[in-house]
Amino acid sequence: MEKICVAVRVRPPVTHESSGGTFWKVDDNRVSLHKAHGTPISGISYAFDHVFDEMCTNSRVYDLLTNDIIHAAVEGFNGTAFAYGQTSSGKTFTMNGSETDPGIIHRAVRDVFERIHMMSHREFLIRVSYMEIYNEEINDLLAVENQKLQIHESLERGIFVAGLKEEIVSNAEQVLKLIESGEVNRHFGETNMNARSSRSHTIFRMVIESNEKGVHSSGDVIRVSVLNLVDLAGSERIAKTGAGGVRLKEGKHINKSLMILGNVINKLSDGAKNRGHIPYRDSKLTRILQPALGGNAKTSIICTIAPEEVHIEETKGTLQFASRAK
Ligand code: ADP
Ligand code: MG
Repeated sequence: MEKICVAVRVRPPVTHESSGGTFWKVDDNRVSLHKAHGTPISGISYAFDHVFDEMCTNSRVYDLLTNDIIHAAVEGFNGTAFAYGQTSSGKTFTMNGSETDPGIIHRAVRDVFERIHMMSHREFLIRVSYMEIYNEEINDLLAVENQKLQIHESLERGIFVAGLKEEIVSNAEQVLKLIESGEVNRHFGETNMNARSSRSHTIFRMVIESNEKGVHSSGDVIRVSVLNLVDLAGSERIAKTGAGGVRLKEGKHINKSLMILGNVINKLSDGAKNRGHIPYRDSKLTRILQPALGGNAKTSIICTIAPEEVHIEETKGTLQFASRAK
């Protein structure tokens, strides 16, 4: 079992109001709460594999957190990278990036194609899919007509989403265009906290299949790996958003699936002996990701936090989630 790599990233402040009585301080791989005049607040300090401060670029995050997963995926190992955090803490910035600093998905796609071009002794077949889980329903972001898809399991295919569009792709530009078209179909909703907060989990997936050139006879030279890049729904607790009706229902689904994800990851990071039953089946998210979580799969989680004092309770919640994942 590979160790799950856990990182925290602090986004830059978005408002210029005085930040109040406390701030989060980053020292190497540790983040701690401090009083405004600098003294640490005892007991509120966490260490992770990496802690990225507000100056850190997506490029650096990619190099330290995702690079290995992508390289292993090209070699035939499954991998998953998650972004977890409250709405507006920087998940989508981390996964999708900006014009000047492309995010993890963009970099991963380019990296995969660069890698496979260097492996001239193998031939590759790459398929991509892009889906969202909204209110525990799976929708296809590459084909809007594919709604409420079901998860099936078979001997040949393992666990799969029935009817999900898988596009065969041959270069990075083609994949990035597909993602762009998929973005348009993402669910957005209004809450009191954030005008366009994302209320769904999105999973971008690449299936990388390869075989040695000129060898077509025996099955053992074929490698298939699945790479998932996941932008999770906002982790904020529902009470804070003052939501009712539809928003309340969304919030309950989100809270439940994130809790189950936390339980699954916690069990996985416990080590093989004490692990016992892993509740993959308790949510669509963990069920879909099951083949690429655990076993010899590589997993990383980046937990994004907001620096502002108004977000302190949510930030503590995120840091606790991150701590349980270690
Ligand atoms: P989330 O997806 O978690 O709701 P976003 O990624 O949309 O949050 O981030 C909220 C805002 O903060 C966006 O305007 C985004 O561009 C900005 N932002 C987030 N993280 C960073 C960062 N590390 N550097 C610069 N801007 C950031
Ligand atoms: Mg987002």
